Amino acid sequence: MSNYRIHGATGDWEIVVGLEVHAQVTSNAKLFSGASTQFGAEPNTQVSLVDAAMPGMLPVPNRECVRQAVRTGMAIEAEIHKWSRFDRKNYFYADLPQGYQISQLYHPIVGKGALTIEADEKAGIPEDRTIGIERIHIEQDAGKLMHDQHPTMSYVDLNRVGVALMEIVSDPDMTSPAEAGAYVRKLRAILRYVGSCDGNMEEGSMRADVNVSVRRVGDTELGTRTETKNVNSVRFVMQTIEHEAQRQVNVLEDGGTIVQETRLFDPGTGTTRSMRSKEDAHDYRYFPDPDLLPLELDDEFLEACRASLPELPDAKRLRYENELGLTPYNARELTADVEVFARFETLLGETASAIGKPEAKVATQVANWALSVAPGVVKSLGDEADVSHGTAARQAAILKMQDAGEISGGQAKEIYEIVLKTGREPDEIADTEGLKQVSDTGAIEAAIDAIIAGNGDKVEQYKGGKDKLFGFFVGQTMKAMQGKANPAVVNQILKDKLG
Ligand code: MN
Repeated sequence: MSNYRIHGATGDWEIVVGLEVHAQVTSNAKLFSGASTQFGAEPNTQVSLVDAAMPGMLPVPNRECVRQAVRTGMAIEAEIHKWSRFDRKNYFYADLPQGYQISQLYHPIVGKGALTIEADEKAGIPEDRTIGIERIHIEQDAGKLMHDQHPTMSYVDLNRVGVALMEIVSDPDMTSPAEAGAYVRKLRAILRYVGSCDGNMEEGSMRADVNVSVRRVGDTELGTRTETKNVNSVRFVMQTIEHEAQRQVNVLEDGGTIVQETRLFDPGTGTTRSMRSKEDAHDYRYFPDPDLLPLELDDEFLEACRASLPELPDAKRLRYENELGLTPYNARELTADVEVFARFETLLGETASAIGKPEAKVATQVANWALSVAPGVVKSLGDEADVSHGTAARQAAILKMQDAGEISGGQAKEIYEIVLKTGREPDEIADTEGLKQVSDTGAIEAAIDAIIAGNGDKVEQYKGGKDKLFGFFVGQTMKAMQGKANPAVVNQILKDKLG
């Protein structure tokens, strides 16, 4: 449990949050038709006769959508139901030509599972938390009404009609906005690792219905909840919870009651407003879809699904800690998303083979570079950076020179800046721009001899016990060498000479 509390005039309140996430299944075709699912097409160009609900057309389940839902269920260690069934959820709306949505109410394809969110003290999550997942079912998406195309008419775009969604329903296990944010991020990471949803919240591939209720600290009964629909970013999910919980506390402390209702989030103001009173399942007159046979999955299909799963975020994070020796923070950051770990693993492989050491020996250096140094350089250059120049091979070449003591950390950054601006090769840059450390003991020794000769008084004081003066000699030597001397070599020679 988090310590998140809302301090009301009459005492402290805690919040209870559950999320229903709709995730668009990665598939070229729709759930029950062969129409394309490509984003951004001209309105009404991706609509089959099935999607348009022409009389007599029959739906045919798309095997790939079923496979992706099963793989997703396996990734959250859920029960997979070998027998499931489609139901009709009946309602009338202009973006739904069938007059019903094909969904799964009574027998979903995936049952109980869970995911873990990691402790993050800074974000207000004091300990690891396991969040229950009640079910995943598959269902059709609806179309989109457009009210901004004509002064007096509304238009409808049916391209999304029939696109496959997974509805992933959590238990009411989250107790703060931070936990809900972490849950959505973790779920998104899992979906992207599995490849069952691209997780693109701006394009609507993933959106959350946010269920919030409040109760006095110590109460065990759940309060009446509201559901805020179609929230489409992690930040908005957190804002919805903060605002909605505070609103409910205000109502209750004023002696009012919470109405079970559906609400809308307004990103402009960060507030929610009432949309309609909440329907119950019986309002939709659910019944089994007579056009579809139940889904029956055989062992061979399930085994193939399991065999196709990649290494998942938790396993990868632990491997980074245990086998690569990364800190928990670095391991978490690097495994947070598919693109991030893919880039890291490529760079790690290139660097290890360039240097000729095992990956575990260079992983910390590569992790620090990938998480902090390289992004810092990109950020400082702004528009001047062309990140396509920063290939893994070039970054590995820089890390190799640094590992060999040929360049300092500062020089590594300077070289990478030039790489990103010009696409030149790091070795050539180091040579021609004078960006190399001098490790030549002769040159460093000569500089140190001159400094010792010119500072006889300080040498006396140092030898007399004023150890702090060592830094002075290092500074003078680096200055004489224009900052390019290898600090390890400078330290060693100074120690030898000063005794
Ligand atoms: Mn749904």
